[in-house]
Amino acid sequence: MMPSTSTAPLSVWTVAIDAPLGALSYLIPETFDPARVTRGTSVLVPLGGRKVHGVLLSETKAPTGVKMKAAIEILEDRPPLPAIYVEWLEWVARYYVHPLGQTIELAFPPLARAKMKKDGTRTKSRKAPLIDVQASAGRVDNSVNLTPEQTAVVDAIAGKPGFGAHLLFGVTGSGKTEVYMELIARTIARGEQALVLVPEIALTPQLIERFARRFGDQIAVIHSHLTPREKTDNWWSARDGSKPVLIGARSALFCPLEKLGLIVIDEEHESSFKQDETLRYHARDAAVMLAKLRNHPIVLGSATPSLETWQNATSGRYQLHRLPSRIHGVRMPKVEIVDLRESRDLDRQTGREAIKTGTDKMGAETSMTRPFWLSKELHVALSETLERGEQAALFLNRRGIAQAVVCPSCGDSPECPNCEVALTLHGRSDLICHYCDYHESMKESCAACHDGEPKPLGLGTERIEQDLSKLFPAARLIRMDRDEIQNREDLEEAISKIENREVDILIGTQMIAKGLDFPGLTLVGLVLADVAFNLPDFRASERAFQLLTQVAGRAGRHLKDRQGHVVLQTYNPDHPSIQFTLAHDYEGFAAHDLGFREHLQYPPHGRLAALKFAGPDLAVTERAAQNIANLARKLAESHAKRLQDEGKPAAPIMILGPAPAPLSKLRNLYRYQVLIKGENANAPVSAFCRTLSEHLDSLVKATSNPLPSKVKLAIDIDALHLL
Ligand code: ADP
Ligand code: ZN
Repeated sequence: MMPSTSTAPLSVWTVAIDAPLGALSYLIPETFDPARVTRGTSVLVPLGGRKVHGVLLSETKAPTGVKMKAAIEILEDRPPLPAIYVEWLEWVARYYVHPLGQTIELAFPPLARAKMKKDGTRTKSRKAPLIDVQASAGRVDNSVNLTPEQTAVVDAIAGKPGFGAHLLFGVTGSGKTEVYMELIARTIARGEQALVLVPEIALTPQLIERFARRFGDQIAVIHSHLTPREKTDNWWSARDGSKPVLIGARSALFCPLEKLGLIVIDEEHESSFKQDETLRYHARDAAVMLAKLRNHPIVLGSATPSLETWQNATSGRYQLHRLPSRIHGVRMPKVEIVDLRESRDLDRQTGREAIKTGTDKMGAETSMTRPFWLSKELHVALSETLERGEQAALFLNRRGIAQAVVCPSCGDSPECPNCEVALTLHGRSDLICHYCDYHESMKESCAACHDGEPKPLGLGTERIEQDLSKLFPAARLIRMDRDEIQNREDLEEAISKIENREVDILIGTQMIAKGLDFPGLTLVGLVLADVAFNLPDFRASERAFQLLTQVAGRAGRHLKDRQGHVVLQTYNPDHPSIQFTLAHDYEGFAAHDLGFREHLQYPPHGRLAALKFAGPDLAVTERAAQNIANLARKLAESHAKRLQDEGKPAAPIMILGPAPAPLSKLRNLYRYQVLIKGENANAPVSAFCRTLSEHLDSLVKATSNPLPSKVKLAIDIDALHLL
């Protein structure tokens, strides 16, 4: 493979390679077509004993005295990366401190391109196509007439050429999706492409149908439940421009679109836009950078924007557009708060009443005591909804029968041996860990004291379903949680059952909160709202507010003559997440929570990155975290000193920890965290982490490695999940 050395000097290029390394230099053989030896071309290169993918970055000088390897071939089935995408991928890799070559790999489809048949059509996979093209193409409908409010938003966004980041802040059902579609239609009319990113769970047939009705066969779709073949086919039809609209979950951002002219991020506050493994990027933030480089608008839409985006929109960095009311004068639902402390006290005094449930075979009346988790108010609301023939949804962010089982004699509760968390009771006697596969069966007597008989404690969706089936024997129930809904087919089946009114009560975890729209759904019950905010994370209130608002927003979306109804049961009726949900007051909530964060310099006031350690041995992991924290402190000091010497304003970096992660042991790994905090939003937290990472690499090479090989370190820039 080595080229001869007798001819004119061969060119040398730096190549980003698919390996956890920086870019390397390779010789370019004479056999390569010179016209194709350009930035963004994919090549195969030797590395160690292997052949790996790489992408040409730039021509460079051959270092003297180094024996250099030559690239093997140009990869024919990989289209060249457009220059702006190379630049953007370089930014992504740098900002999120991830090897460039491995970042670039995301810009290619999982498989080689399917062979073209003789007639030019691509070979079809056997599975049914995602969108029934024949069916939708015949009924492309050219939209509704936008309201004056919607038109104003469209004109404001479309009227501003070039880059602009826009927040479309509109309550649930205010017509945001219609605004996106109009902007997309105008983009296509100009001969450009549009990219729409939505949370994975929102990529249901409901959403895709709606876009298909408007755009017919012009849509490609990418999400994680497609086969690699389907993904590859959809990827290509967007990449080669034959489909002007690409709708997908976060990874669709990496599909290079030559004529991209608009990006839409729906439900921009959703934390699923942040990837929590390998390349820990935030698709929304990376998309804003892409739009900037490509110089076109990006629209972020939400009824409950993330506080980061809200801050950007109110400070003028992003443009703020509002849609404050629902379409057709449909009113926001009435939110009723039930104070569980009061109803518990009342139940203690009077006892929970017996509820008539029907008659048995002998004709005698049957009854049951009202379940402990169901307030009188919610029971009445449920009964009335069922009587009217409407649908209700009960929401609890916890699966199973009971959160834990506890021994009444010694108080012991069985924990997962791999993860330091209580086991959850499912069915009659299955104790399951919600973080790993571990399960065991519940023992008759306590394993710790061999005396008491373990009792279920707390509540889960399975228990709610059981109780409801006794309480309303005629009602048709469906449970939507991770036990019942394990794949896309399950989800789609459940959705169509609810749409077809084959279901009266839906019981679910947060899964049901996301973007679903059921005309018959008029009552939403939040069984225990507190579950959402009682978490040791500074974003817990924000997530709770978003979740409660989104879930509440499912109620009465199509009612013309009265309001939908939300019953919110809680032990903390005064909690800001609850009070602001009651008032439908996002802005009040944002002001409140931003005030609280300012004291602690939490994002968006400052920047935050997490160093996440995981290792099989507690002491070794803790020591490694300690070592790296010390190293980071030294670097932070010299960083501050350098700024001072250069007479620059100090933007201090703070190092917090190490501390055990709130979930301190998961899947047999002990977890520690070090937080890197920048005191203001301009503090270069990412740059600091990059320096730290480079420093670590050099220490690894110098064999004074502070990180034992068994301890894994992940650098998480703008970390969202700190549990
Ligand atoms: P959002 O995305 O803000 O939740 P949608 O775009 O889904 O809101 O709109 C809510 C409902 O109102 C949908 O059923 C939609 O078809 C309808 N709708 C939106 N805009 C209009 C309009 N201008 N005229 C008539 N119906 C509309
Ligand atoms: Zn476990």
